[in-house]
Amino acid sequence: MHVTVTPLQDRYGRVATDLRISLTDRCNLRCSYCMPAEGLDWLPTDEVLTDDEVVRLVDIGVRLLGVEEVRFTGGEPLVRRGLVDIVRRTREVGPGLELSLTTNALGLARTAEALSDAGLDRVNVSLDTVRRETFETITRRDRLHDVLAGLAAARDAGLTPVKVNAVLLRDINDGEAPELLRWAVGEGYQLRFIEQMPLDAQHDWSRAAMVTAEEIFERLGTQFDLTPAAEPRGSAPAELFLVDGGPATVGVIASVTRPFCGDCDRVRLTADGQVRNCLFAREESDLRTALRSGATDEEIAQRWVVAMRGKRAGHGIDDPSFLQPDRPMSAIGG
Ligand code: SAM
Repeated sequence: MHVTVTPLQDRYGRVATDLRISLTDRCNLRCSYCMPAEGLDWLPTDEVLTDDEVVRLVDIGVRLLGVEEVRFTGGEPLVRRGLVDIVRRTREVGPGLELSLTTNALGLARTAEALSDAGLDRVNVSLDTVRRETFETITRRDRLHDVLAGLAAARDAGLTPVKVNAVLLRDINDGEAPELLRWAVGEGYQLRFIEQMPLDAQHDWSRAAMVTAEEIFERLGTQFDLTPAAEPRGSAPAELFLVDGGPATVGVIASVTRPFCGDCDRVRLTADGQVRNCLFAREESDLRTALRSGATDEEIAQRWVVAMRGKRAGHGIDDPSFLQPDRPMSAIGG
């Protein structure tokens, strides 16, 4: 049967092909720049998409809407029971998909092999420090050893390239940037620094306190020679640099000080089945209700297409009228 693919195109001509799906809003760490020590009011279980619903939406995305890449995230996707099965079924509906996971790697040592066998291509692991005390200060948990074991298991299972994402916090781990890069290069992981964004549940973010890309370059420049990597950046958020002439690279994702919204090819689905056309969107479009009220695949696809039309030109963090989204990063899916 002939199927017409309708691209997820917005009013500015950008086409979303990269789908980020949050599988849960729950997390087993409490990173200070993300959520409070006591956690958050988690979504009720019956509001979270079931495995079948997640796979159906992936299928609609791939078959009808031109989705080429799926990244599972959260909250912490490894705490979702059924993750391996979701990955396996996603691979079945999208044999050509680029399929990855953003994770804190707690417990990854146990599941990396199974995830790889199920069809996962690679992982992005979030790690802001390789010092045990700093890790505990930031995440409020003494689990650095688990993360390091998870990373090694991912590498051994071929979930490569293993990317490590780090957020620098002033006076907490910003001085450790060169040490983190030296460690990542030694381990063969691709490190990327991400500017802290106004997406914390506590609304504590301040522009004055955030560590900027400029400062990151300054810090790294004291110990490394960084030259722009030749490969074109395309829609990738990270600006890549060769470390001491390469082949190792380091990335900087300057979402706040050098926004790349004009090249954005991403769309997000929250764990409760809402389309978000931007991390900073203030509106969502409900696909869960449509799924549960008998809508056809084509009707759901049409809703999704309409949801993309409202995507704004940019995140607008610099606009005086900027308002932080109601949902924090952990609920949207980072
Ligand atoms: N639990 C998974 C993990 O740790 O990778 C996936 C979800 S987590 C919200 C995804 C990423 O968002 C992590 O790399 C985390 O450091 C980052 N993050 C959380 N809050 C952020 C903020 N306010 N600004 C920038 N990055 C943030």
